[in-house]
Amino acid sequence: MSSNIRIIRICQQCGNEFEARKTTSKTCSDNCAKKAYKARQRSTNVQTSAEQTLQIKLKPIEDIKAQEFLTVNESAMLIRISRRSLYRLNERGELPFVKLNRRTVIRRSDIDRLFDRPAELMEKSRPEPVALADCYTMKEIREKYDISEKALYELIHRHEIPKQYSSIYAYVPKYRIDQLLSNPSNLS
Ligand SMILES: [Zn+2]
Repeated sequence: MSSNIRIIRICQQCGNEFEARKTTSKTCSDNCAKKAYKARQRSTNVQTSAEQTLQIKLKPIEDIKAQEFLTVNESAMLIRISRRSLYRLNERGELPFVKLNRRTVIRRSDIDRLFDRPAELMEKSRPEPVALADCYTMKEIREKYDISEKALYELIHRHEIPKQYSSIYAYVPKYRIDQLLSNPSNLS
């Protein structure tokens, strides 16, 4: 009688022997079944993300060039600089980032424009450095003027206020900030 046949299996999760109720059972208990399922999900996720990374790496540059809007990663690949360098370009007001649904999008025409400017002009447009004693850090401005980080960033960007860097801090000229923020309409 078939009911007398006992199917003994090894649990794929804990390695213990168990009596299988179905020929397809792979685990000894609900608990092990859950753990096995989670492990499978994890490995699928890792695999998917590895595949996505590979796809991005293999995505031909030509393909990117054909796009009108690029991600930060794609833009960095296109001009072969680091993401950090792209963010610097953006902070210096040389490359606009567009936020769409919390995603950062860069117009390819804006990237092209980076290279349109003659080298000498780019040199000239670089502002004279201001002594750090005559600059604010972002924190100092926010404390003095009670302005949000986002609003301050946008203000600096919109008015093309030059940023200087010393160690990890960005500095901007005090007189530019005081001039702008003494006008209450800039504080909204
Ligand atoms: Zn088990």
